[in-house]
Amino acid sequence: MTHAGAENSTARREELAANLAEVRARIERACAAADRDPAGVTLVAVSKTWPVDDAVLLAELGVTHLAENRDQEASTKVGKFREMRPDLRVRWHMVGSLQRNKAKSAVRWADIVETVDSDRLAQALAKAAAGRPEPLDVLIQVSLDGDPARGGCPVDDLGRLADTIAEQRDLRLAGLMAVAPLGWEPTRAFDLLAGAAGPIRSAHRTAVTLSAGMSGDLEHAIAHGSTSVRVGTALFGGRRLASD
Ligand SMILES: *Cc1c(COP(=O)(O)O)cnc(C)c1O
Repeated sequence: MTHAGAENSTARREELAANLAEVRARIERACAAADRDPAGVTLVAVSKTWPVDDAVLLAELGVTHLAENRDQEASTKVGKFREMRPDLRVRWHMVGSLQRNKAKSAVRWADIVETVDSDRLAQALAKAAAGRPEPLDVLIQVSLDGDPARGGCPVDDLGRLADTIAEQRDLRLAGLMAVAPLGWEPTRAFDLLAGAAGPIRSAHRTAVTLSAGMSGDLEHAIAHGSTSVRVGTALFGGRRLASD
């Protein structure tokens, strides 16, 4: 590494460390306000569009969950990450929409797929995950506004999709995920999600995760029971254009 490169990397590490401290403080304050234990909220760093070096720096700073939203970008980045730092144990989350023909590729890098929204995708993932020592963890992505164009399973269909997933030996239904629809009050969105999670948790004891909250609304999500916040911008900075 050149001298300038080393200086850049030191500056970037300090920037990421400061952002991480601020995000952790926000999570702690939100938990205190909701009378919740911060240990019950997992921070998932969304590294999409950011280079693998940033992912490595955050993992060195103690982040153990990283997320990507495009299979192609992720398979390259995670491959590099594992090659560079096989000693850093992180769980990789898929948080973007996934086409069935990418299921095979996705299970090679993802430890948990948060965006299952149809029987057909669940079945494709089960087939791709067949023969693994452990079942693949999946979340159902919930469509809170029912708009089919934006992905996600409508609230009324959740029970049926949860049953389909639970029938797959190579999948484990770990819970629900949602993005607050644009223009909605976060409270309305996360209230609806929490209501939808109740019956799914009663029917499926493994479905304990509620993945909700991003840089702009994590406090609201934690107030409504989120157990996993997905944070990009507040950790890495303003969004960068994808280079590939
Ligand atoms: C990008 C992304 C995030 C992170 O969003 P920020 O507003 O940058 O924190 C969270 N969830 C999903 C599904 C995303 O695509």
